[in-house]
Amino acid sequence: MRITAVQTIVVNVSPFTNWTFVRLETDDGIAGVGEATLIGFEPAVASLVGEIGAPLVGRNPLEAGPLHMTQGGHIAAAALSGLEQALWDIRGKAHGVPVHRLLGGGRPAVPVYANINRGTRDRSPRGVGARAEEAVSAGFGAVKFAPFDEYLWWEAAGRRDLLEPGIRRVEAIRETVGPRVAVKVDCHWRFDVPAAIEVGRRLAALDLAWYEAPVSERDPDAVREVREQTGLRIAGGELQTSLLDYRRLLEARCMDVLMPDVKYVGGIQGVLKVATLAEAFGASIAPHNPSGPVATAATLHAAAVLPNLMTVEYQFAEVEWYWDLVQVEFAVKDGHMQVPQSPGLGVNFDMALAAKYPYQPVRHMQDPRLFV
Ligand SMILES: [Mg+2]
Repeated sequence: MRITAVQTIVVNVSPFTNWTFVRLETDDGIAGVGEATLIGFEPAVASLVGEIGAPLVGRNPLEAGPLHMTQGGHIAAAALSGLEQALWDIRGKAHGVPVHRLLGGGRPAVPVYANINRGTRDRSPRGVGARAEEAVSAGFGAVKFAPFDEYLWWEAAGRRDLLEPGIRRVEAIRETVGPRVAVKVDCHWRFDVPAAIEVGRRLAALDLAWYEAPVSERDPDAVREVREQTGLRIAGGELQTSLLDYRRLLEARCMDVLMPDVKYVGGIQGVLKVATLAEAFGASIAPHNPSGPVATAATLHAAAVLPNLMTVEYQFAEVEWYWDLVQVEFAVKDGHMQVPQSPGLGVNFDMALAAKYPYQPVRHMQDPRLFV
């Protein structure tokens, strides 16, 4: 078997989101797919998929070995991660087994939570609460929201009034879902340390399951201060791309939950490596995955075999054809999503449907105000 082509497919999902997929074709008819979504950088990712993928053409995918990258930052990391997942998809299909079985096998279903952020256009407390309730009705036992639309510390330091709407939204979620559903809050690094501590202390009264990305992670000491001063479980590390980045966070003892992303950290193998490192520090793993269905599949295979898995993210209700794009749906029941059991990643990428929603430029990664 030889790889014959490397392809990037970008699908527009909403005014906020494009998904980027990587596809490898082989001469015996097996194709592999991976996801490299990096919103706002689609043409750059596609270019690097071509660069990093070119040496694979003509090679046997079962002998391709690990992919290496030392330069190119986040964009190259996304491209490489997409290619890595696509290689796993081919390996699984060639051997006729799901990828998690190649990794040793594990859980048949993994805990998942509903990220309701992008799927919630009505940002009033009532609108947010209603969306949370929908997620619980759909079988999720935990929800996450990024409520602080009004606050960016470099514009609003000291403006307590701009924190209030966010706190109202979290209160509405807790009120709606009741005490038994886990509520997680994502802050997208919008706070300085004083605001993060103040907000964290107020949210603690609402029984938060975790407090995500309250302050910039470039300064692990600042994150640790928020952790120590609020007593909350701190989650983060969704954009890091290397083991060294994670080692720094772990050595600083600033996070309880690391969130490696299969799309940025070197694919499935990258998530496993970060999990192993985290295990040595007593930290849990909750893979970041506000992504399309291929990344969800890849993440589920990795999550199935992690000893220190806490939960997996799923982007709830962002687009109605989410599962149609891969012609399969991984059922959610009692807060768990089933791990794919078909060969490879267990998805059947629908090229015709993808072609109906071509790339549209969005600039949200470049504007922190719009980062959702
Ligand atoms: Mg996040």
